[in-house]
Amino acid sequence: MHRQPQVQINLQALQHNYLQLKKLAPNSKLLALLKADAYGHGMLEVASALPDVDAFGVARLDEALALRTGGIVKPIVLLEGFFHADELEQVVASNLQIVIHHIDQAEALLAANLSTPVPVWLKLDTGMHRLGILPSDYVDVYERLIASDNVQGPMRLMTHFANSDDLTSDATATQIALFQSITVDLVAEHSLANSAAVLSRPDTHADWVRPGLLLYGVSPLQGHTGRDHNLLPVMSLVSSVIAVRDVAAGDAVGYSGSWTSPKATRVAVVAMGYGDGYPRAAGNKAEVLINNQRFAVVGRVSMDMITVDIGAAAVQVGDEVLFWGPNLPVELLAEKIGTIPYELLCNISSRRRIKFN
Ligand code: PLP
Repeated sequence: MHRQPQVQINLQALQHNYLQLKKLAPNSKLLALLKADAYGHGMLEVASALPDVDAFGVARLDEALALRTGGIVKPIVLLEGFFHADELEQVVASNLQIVIHHIDQAEALLAANLSTPVPVWLKLDTGMHRLGILPSDYVDVYERLIASDNVQGPMRLMTHFANSDDLTSDATATQIALFQSITVDLVAEHSLANSAAVLSRPDTHADWVRPGLLLYGVSPLQGHTGRDHNLLPVMSLVSSVIAVRDVAAGDAVGYSGSWTSPKATRVAVVAMGYGDGYPRAAGNKAEVLINNQRFAVVGRVSMDMITVDIGAAAVQVGDEVLFWGPNLPVELLAEKIGTIPYELLCNISSRRRIKFN
């Protein structure tokens, strides 16, 4: 019996998802996204459980260094690249690969005095308008980088889709066409596909696919769950019932009385709250599983407790409660509360760090 909220990670499910991804994109190398503590799943454990992936992707330098310190020797790609010359030295020292997404980074790399050349992924902005070299500058930057002693081949050319989870949008086709028109004559490997494109756009699989969410067994497509793509959810979020009480018709439960019981019932109090990363928006909207039965979350989500209407069910103190996992897809909760599964998974993360001054 565990009274604490617990994140359970099924590494066999992760392995299954990896193999399924290899079936979906059999001719592409796989860059597995491990940023944000592997979407909340634990970066080092996930990296160690995926011995066959071709490379790992993280957002920031500290994530890459944590992987190296943890003994991960595979190629690691820094998706945000570097920002200062001293970071470039760490990139070289830790044998990292960098995404160049801004012209200033290209200039800094070209001007650096490096002991060893760095593998580069050159990002093209095809419509996300967030990171990426502008189409008008791209070929020039490519040519200067490829001629530099600081750059190790093969060069990888990449772009990121803004709308690939929306199958009704034309935006992805526009991005693909722009990417192809700019890169057609450049000798390099290509990478376009995130999870949604791995599923829905085989024409974008190219040399490298870059899935994150699918690895964790979760679907990026509206109205779908990982199971629709033969994936298994890797994370289960569980806790236990810490009290059961009778509630009379007309009793208001929890802060601000946002739920009033329409009839006499029983309410289970469960050790889980927004302080644990469970979304406050789940109050009066979500369901949980207790003893394989679904029950509604009623009233507000508090910092460390939620309340669940269990009616006449034989629920007891100590019973395990599932918030999401194999029999209760996280995609359903995300949809109910108007967010995306990415946010729910990451909020449970151990990445939350505090700096004391
Ligand atoms: N590639 C890049 C550049 C990303 O930033 C991300 C995540 O945001 C991904 C790939 C993976 O996205 P997804 O988790 O949707 O597969």
